[in-house]
Amino acid sequence: MERFLLKNIDRSDLTDMDEYIKFGGYSAILKALEMKPSDIIDEVKRSGLRGRGGAGFPTGMKWSFAAADPKKPKYLICNADEGEPGTFKDKPILEKNPHLLIEGMIISGYALQAEYGYIYLRGEYPKAKDILEKAIKQAYNRGYLGDNIHGKEVNFHLYVHQGAGAYICGEETALIESLEGKRGQPKIKPPFPVNEGFLSKPTVVNNVETLANIPYIIEIGAEAYSKIGSPECPGPKLFSVSGNVKNPGVYELPMGTTLREIIYTHCGGIRDDKKLKAVIPGGISTPILTPDKIDCPMDFVNMPKYGSMLGSGAVMVFDETVDLAKICLRAMKFFEHESCGKCTPCREGIGWMRAILERICSGSGMAGDIELLIEVSKNIAGKTFCPLGDGAAVVVQSFINNFRQEFEQHISKEFSKEIKVAA
Ligand code: SF4
Repeated sequence: MERFLLKNIDRSDLTDMDEYIKFGGYSAILKALEMKPSDIIDEVKRSGLRGRGGAGFPTGMKWSFAAADPKKPKYLICNADEGEPGTFKDKPILEKNPHLLIEGMIISGYALQAEYGYIYLRGEYPKAKDILEKAIKQAYNRGYLGDNIHGKEVNFHLYVHQGAGAYICGEETALIESLEGKRGQPKIKPPFPVNEGFLSKPTVVNNVETLANIPYIIEIGAEAYSKIGSPECPGPKLFSVSGNVKNPGVYELPMGTTLREIIYTHCGGIRDDKKLKAVIPGGISTPILTPDKIDCPMDFVNMPKYGSMLGSGAVMVFDETVDLAKICLRAMKFFEHESCGKCTPCREGIGWMRAILERICSGSGMAGDIELLIEVSKNIAGKTFCPLGDGAAVVVQSFINNFRQEFEQHISKEFSKEIKVAA
């Protein structure tokens, strides 16, 4: 497949606006400015684009909700708070191709009739902040940002806001709270941000990759775009692959590419030609899969049929030497650290699961610990305010469901000395 999101990504000068334009950049916006905002929304709807942040909600539909709300001003926020372990798919766009995101945001802002846009950037991406701000300044100087863009009555102003490094601020309501200067904690929905978002005004929050797809849809048209990848979830998809593969990295492939193809064709197979033991397909909060499930097409519709989710498309690969009970413990330490503390099942329950897992992994596990873990996880799942609590519960349940023996071996102290935690 011809690359679009990662086109020319290895060029060191692609962050410069002239280079970006030399390779066709900013042509989609000129085409979009000749269209009516409602036609752009229809085009995005017909393209079948679904949000690339993890939830997979149809982008055009989300836009139409905000566009239909009469309240003004409207806001567009780019969620660049990429904080899930294993997820680094947006980083190449942010650091190496910032004008693609900016172009996508200008077109999206015009479609929504939003005059202000924010890029809410992960606190741990300081390099991207400098790159984005420099690129935004170039776009202002060349009349692509600001008032009366290219002589049209179109205004769009864009700002970068760097978060403090809290995972929960990737959740859209917490992100908006943080952007308003408040404590970054999720809010109850409804009302949804498309009607009451930033400063209580209609706000669309889209992921970096989602917005970077917009120029492509305008460039090739919805019909051609909808033929890429799988029918229900068309378009290109970025997969960030880490763990025990020969060639980890970010890959742009058609949506619906199978895990087997990603691991064995694009990433060169398992490092040192060892056996595959498990795969987490979409970031640490998506259920772990056994090797017999790797023929699943990676998209929002097919992954649930195989017992997991596409999530952010962050594929984590574990070979036969990895101690999965310790991976589960490591995940729980992450969730415990990132819990915002708003609701009791998450705040107290995840720490409890971490303590049990620590006991098991240190060789002090007791009979009944696995059942206790399952019990605690059931009292978290579905009882928390936001998906972080559910994510932690799902991790524990899916690891135990698929790899219970690993936990039992720790408890019975028969665990192989050769098995170690992956680097
Ligand atoms: S589930 Fe956890 S992170 Fe989400 S609101 Fe509750 S305490 Fe905060």
